[in-house]
Amino acid sequence: MDVVQQLVAQLGDSAVLRGPEDMAGHLSDWRGRYQGRAQCVALPSTTEQVAAIVRLCRQAGAPIVVQGGNTSLCEGAVPRAELPGTVVINLARMRQVRSVDVANNSMVVEAGCVLAAVQQAAAAHDRLYPVSLGAEGSCQIGGNIATNAGGTGVLRYGNTRENVLGLEVVLPDGRIWNGLYGLRKNNTGFDLKHLFIGSEGTLGVVTAATLKLHPLPTARAMAWLAVDSPQTALTLLARLQRRCGAALSAYELMNDVQLNIVLQQVSGRRAPLNPQHPWHVLVELSDTGGEAVLAAALEEVLEAAASEGLLLDAALAASGQQQADWWEVRHSVSEGNKKAGIGINTDPAVPLSAVPAFIAQATAAAHRVLPGAPIIVVAHLGDGNVHFIPQVSFEQWRALAPEQQDRLSHAVKQAVNEVAHALGGTFSAEHGIGQVLTEEMGLFKPPVELDLMHTIKQALDPEQLFNPGRLLPATPSH
Ligand code: FAD
Repeated sequence: MDVVQQLVAQLGDSAVLRGPEDMAGHLSDWRGRYQGRAQCVALPSTTEQVAAIVRLCRQAGAPIVVQGGNTSLCEGAVPRAELPGTVVINLARMRQVRSVDVANNSMVVEAGCVLAAVQQAAAAHDRLYPVSLGAEGSCQIGGNIATNAGGTGVLRYGNTRENVLGLEVVLPDGRIWNGLYGLRKNNTGFDLKHLFIGSEGTLGVVTAATLKLHPLPTARAMAWLAVDSPQTALTLLARLQRRCGAALSAYELMNDVQLNIVLQQVSGRRAPLNPQHPWHVLVELSDTGGEAVLAAALEEVLEAAASEGLLLDAALAASGQQQADWWEVRHSVSEGNKKAGIGINTDPAVPLSAVPAFIAQATAAAHRVLPGAPIIVVAHLGDGNVHFIPQVSFEQWRALAPEQQDRLSHAVKQAVNEVAHALGGTFSAEHGIGQVLTEEMGLFKPPVELDLMHTIKQALDPEQLFNPGRLLPATPSH
């Protein structure tokens, strides 16, 4: 029996997708730019089934790509076109909330749980799972963990890494590691969960996680600000942090180019303020106390800022509905950009103090490659993470041969990432590496770090079956 027949015998016919139509949604990336190939997509329902699939693939020497919601923005979860013998393991059927420990502020969920469902399950117990991003209706907890997803709640609650207490993982040799601890303290040597968080499916399959929960905020206050520059936005961030402390839960910046794309491309989105203002900031305060306290703190800071001429305009959300509408505008940026043209996406982070210099220098660098291109800027400003996206129209793009497209995209990304690197930043703040940034790993990661990563990969997956060609650049020695 070949590996597909063995998988069918092991999992049942309906859990192994084979035909091109059945597999279609699993073989191309979210932006529809990469088309991969695979011999099948396996849909396990239990951790034991995942372990059995891994053992079968290992015996057959079949490459494995682990897939969650397939919302990766760096083509990380699609199998490679040149490896048609790949088996995709998709976790969509593993979506049980195994337990909630309210007193411990934790819950154990299976990796295939969709992020929004996890947030809802936590809320049903009066708790908050704070990771939040535009793809939360389709990305999975396993994918969030494998990419150490960021999003809009990092300023207050940290990345996914800060919200995971324990993991269950199927290792490349087929063993199951049960590390589903619910502990805040456990100094018993290497903290192995951190190896798998951010490992992008290269070291095994995350099958379940113990997540950290937080008190569910009962009050929220939001403002939408128009300012003249990123520097002014930073000045206001410092003031809000000083006055509101941990209650400041989001601070998101976008430029007029970005806002206008959302308004034009995504139906039902309305601008909170005149969209011609050059820079826009969404501010959110949230806490467990009363709304009036938050609103008063926000108004105090904004009134002082207005009296000093720091604001071009400002609006306070008048209702929960308006707050939700403003979040919809923010969460629609990826959808709008996908429809608007070819965005050459970058995901750098720099120290907060360097954000204005980064935006100015990266604009100049991008324009040296693409003179006059519109530049989309949308930033998790509180984290120093700036999505800096030079745009090319569909017509311009289609006029280029595929190699020219690759060259152009590569030149722009490198120019932008070099600016971030020179300012003490990173070329990948939250989306991960996937298959689109492996070259940058070679360029920007210190050789000692790369060598340690290769050593770990070699120790856990000596046959290099897990997500081959992803995350790590190839080296002659491994
Ligand atoms: P996939 O795309 O399926 O996989 C991503 C990587 O994780 C792949 O390498 C895959 O092999 C690996 N993987 C998946 N599941 C497992 C598992 N169970 N075990 C081991 N490896 C696994 N990201 C942010 O960080 N912040 C944002 O604000 C943000 N906004 C987004 C908005 C939109 C509209 C979209 C489409 C994407 C956005 N993303 C954002 C990117 C993406 O949603 C995240 O990277 C997310 O964490 C990926 O989850 P997923 O389940 O879709 O994973």
